[in-house]
Amino acid sequence: MSLQTPDHDEAHGGGLGSRLNWLRAAVLGANDGVVSTAGLVVGVAGATDARGTLLTAGLAGLLAGSMSMAAGEYVSVSTQRDSEKAALALEKRELATEPQAELVELTELLEGKGLGRELAREVAEQLTAHDALRAHAEVELGIDPDQLTNPWHAAGASFLAFTVGALLPLLAIVLPSAGQRLWITVVAVLAALALCGWSSARLGAAPVGRAIGRNMTGGALAMGVTYAAGALLGAAGV
Ligand SMILES: [Zn+2]
Repeated sequence: MSLQTPDHDEAHGGGLGSRLNWLRAAVLGANDGVVSTAGLVVGVAGATDARGTLLTAGLAGLLAGSMSMAAGEYVSVSTQRDSEKAALALEKRELATEPQAELVELTELLEGKGLGRELAREVAEQLTAHDALRAHAEVELGIDPDQLTNPWHAAGASFLAFTVGALLPLLAIVLPSAGQRLWITVVAVLAALALCGWSSARLGAAPVGRAIGRNMTGGALAMGVTYAAGALLGAAGV
């Protein structure tokens, strides 16, 4: 098997890294739901005051977005899972057919992590005696064979995150009266985007101010562009 450097921090297990990845993905999904639904309903509000139309457009946008996120996540996690399973199967065959070469390989990988030659050899022998496949999966592939990500879980989480985000602009545009709904939506959306920017910056240990600024600018642009488009179409009587 190829000697990939296994020291990437993408965690597959139930550890802190993996929980952070899930949290980060949830924030991004919610952020997507806020921006795309806000752009949609503000654009429609540029053309019409009819609450029923706003509700229909917003709800359709929410469902389309959350389904698309879930489907995309399902496909990408399934593909990753398939390739992890294939890598594990290949590893299993190699362990059965050339155990000696595999022991040498594991020893070298452990040396690469900083163990001395003697110690690496001893650790490799003990790991191999205990659970050779797990040792190779973890050290060589960076996979925990018991913790492959479930594509249905990933899809469900994406669906939920997007829906939670999308509900905010949808409710903000539908619930207030015609004269109030636009500014209430804009303020609510910018506040939510500030919160999302803050959370993802904190989770990624990145500078908070810049993340908030970028995130709010993106949302403001989306709403500005769609509102202008909606207002033009509305004025043209389309
Ligand atoms: Zn191996």
